[in-house]
This record gives sequence, C-alpha cells and structure tokens, in this order.
Amino acid sequence: MSIATAARMVRERIATAGGDPEAVRLVAVTKGHSLATVHAAAAAGLMDLGESYAQELAAKAEAAPAGVRWHFIGQLQSNKVRRIAPFVYLWHSVDRLSLAAEIARHAPAAEVLVQVNVTGLPQQAGCSPPGVAAMVEGCRELGLEVRGLMAIGPRGSDALVRASFAEVRALADDLGLPERSMGMSGDLAAAVAEGSTMVRVGTDLFGPRGGASSVGQ
Ligand SMILES: *Cc1c(COP(=O)(O)O)cnc(C)c1O
Repeated sequence: MSIATAARMVRERIATAGGDPEAVRLVAVTKGHSLATVHAAAAAGLMDLGESYAQELAAKAEAAPAGVRWHFIGQLQSNKVRRIAPFVYLWHSVDRLSLAAEIARHAPAAEVLVQVNVTGLPQQAGCSPPGVAAMVEGCRELGLEVRGLMAIGPRGSDALVRASFAEVRALADDLGLPERSMGMSGDLAAAVAEGSTMVRVGTDLFGPRGGASSVGQ
C-alpha cells in the first residue's frame, strides 16, 4: 500500500471516530524508518513528522525536504536538547522542569506540550495528573509557549483507554489548553472520540519498524 493510501485510510478512521480529518493533525511517526521514508512521506503531503530519538531526528532533519515540521515525541535527556533544538517545531514530551529549562535555554519561547502519565504506573513517562498545572505554570515562567497536553494511552480495555484520554481532555480544558496529542496506531479511534487534536501514527502509515531505530540514538 502506498503512503498516500495509508494516510487516506487513517484520515477515514479519524472521521469515523467523530473527528474532523482537516482539524485533527496527523503526525507521521518516522522513527525506525529510513530517510527515504521521510522523503516519501513528505511527497505524500505528510509534513508533520515525529521522532522519538534525538540523534535520529537530527540526522533526518539535516537531510529532509524543506517544509517538514519535526515533532519530538520520545523521552528526552536534557543533554540531547541542544542537538535538536534547531529542528524541533513542537516538543511533545516535556515532563519535568529541568528539561523545560534546557529547552528554554536552547529554543527560547518554544512551543511545547506537557506530557501526562495517565497510566498510574510510576515507571511511565509524564507528570502525574495532579502535577500538570504546576508544570504548565513552570514552563510558562521559563518563557515557553504551552500549547497543550500529550499522553500515551494505557494498555487495557477500550473503556479504560477512553477514560484515560477523557482525563487528559478534562485537564486540558481546565487549563484552557487547546491541543491534546493523543492516539497512536492502536488506540487512534478512542483518542479521537475523546477529543484528540493531534494523533501520532507510525505503524499504520509505514508498516512495522525493523528495530528500535534504524539510525541509532
Ligand atoms: C512510536 C510512537 C508512536 C507511534 O506508534 P505506532 O504504534 O507505530 O503508531 C506514537 N507516539 C509515541 C510517543 C511513540 O513513541
């Protein structure tokens, strides 16, 4: 299947789940895929691309076609911020003030999302729901532009997944934040039904990833 066809099918699923395919931004996750995939995605009109590893993002961004908007979606060590700051359009995974401070230092006034851990599992990334308001405030004090919240859905029943996304939506609404980055290949419909404004889709556009990363971290 071509990337354009796969993208059309993803947009149809967004519509079926009750989302507006023009309004829900499709972030195409190219992690673990080659530079050729980046070029093919852009040629198919997918200009919002997501990466989870700093080194992989930097290597691809330096060789990508003009106009690509890079979304950093993975767990990020503070010492990697400087390397990717020139390229990142939106930082999805800000979950601690030390990381926010480093982003503010290398990309002043950058647009960020605060990652929320809705799984209840302490080993998962993201700040706990009760800590989100303070994190948003801390980011603003550093001069960052907080656009919204990001979450990775839990594993579990559809009801549990939907409740988790609904929690993210309620938190964002309470804080007056417009963007909600939620939904991947496996839980796209649940996320859109609960008000996602940005879905991050890899597998359903590009097929399975070969290894954790083809370019390395
Ligand atoms: C890899 C990844 C995705 C894409 O996952 P797929 O299941 O391939 O669609 C989305 N979000 C994050 C944070 C990821 O790490």
